[in-house]
Amino acid sequence: MAYGSRRQFLTGVLGAGVGLWSARYLPQPEMRDQKHGSLFAGEKKMPFQQPPLPYPMDALVPYLSEEQIRFHYGKHHAAYFKNLNGLVEGKPEAQWTLREVVIRSSGPIFNNAAQAWNHTFYWNCMDPKGGGEPAGELAQAIRRDFGSFAEFQKAFSEAAVKLFGSGWAWLAADKDGKLSIMGLSNADTPLKHDQEPVLTIDVWEHAYYIDYRNERARFVEGFWKYVNWSFAAKRYALRGQVDQLD
Ligand code: MN
Repeated sequence: MAYGSRRQFLTGVLGAGVGLWSARYLPQPEMRDQKHGSLFAGEKKMPFQQPPLPYPMDALVPYLSEEQIRFHYGKHHAAYFKNLNGLVEGKPEAQWTLREVVIRSSGPIFNNAAQAWNHTFYWNCMDPKGGGEPAGELAQAIRRDFGSFAEFQKAFSEAAVKLFGSGWAWLAADKDGKLSIMGLSNADTPLKHDQEPVLTIDVWEHAYYIDYRNERARFVEGFWKYVNWSFAAKRYALRGQVDQLD
C-alpha cells in the first residue's frame, strides 16, 4: 500500500487532524486492510468511514460497560457516518475531508458530519490506562488559564454536568494557545468557533444512560479516571497547524 493512498484515506476519515495521531490511535495495518479492504485500492474518493475504536469495547469497564460502548460506538456513532454518506452522495461535500465538511456545512449535513468527527475525537479522549494529570506544555497552559489543575477540572465538570439538553463539554485552544472551556449544544464543536478541540466529553444521554441512567454527574466524575492526557497534549501541540497537515 502506497503511503499516498493511506494518507488520502485518513484525510477522508477525520480530516487533517488525524494525520499526526500517533500509531497507537490507528488500527494495525492488518486490521485496516481487513476492515477497509478496497478503500486502499484506487484513487477514487471513498465514503466517510467510521474509524475503529482505539481499544476493545470492554476496555473502559467498570467506568463504561461493553454494552454502553457497543450501543454508543456501534449504533449511534455508526449511524452518523451512514446518514452523512447518504446526505453527501453526489454532492461536492463528498470530496471534502470530514473536517472541512464540519467547518463549512450547515443543517443535517453539518449535524451528521460533526457528530461523526466529535465521537471519533471523544473515543481518543479516553484510555484504559488514562487518568491522572497532564504534563508539559498543556499542564502549564491549564495552570496559566485556569489557576490550577483542580480549578480547571471543576470548571470542566461543571460545564459538562450543567449543559442543558444534549451536547458536549470541550477544552479548546485558540491559535495562540489560550485555553477555554466550551459547553456546546447538540453537534456543535470548537471547530465551528475557530478553536481547536483539545479534550471532550459527550453528555448526550445516549453516552451514559445504559450505565448511569439519569446520573450525568457520576458519569462525568468517572471520566477523570480514564482521561487520555497524552492525546490531549498532542492535540494541544497541534493547534494552529492542523489545517496544513494533510
Ligand atoms: Mn454520543
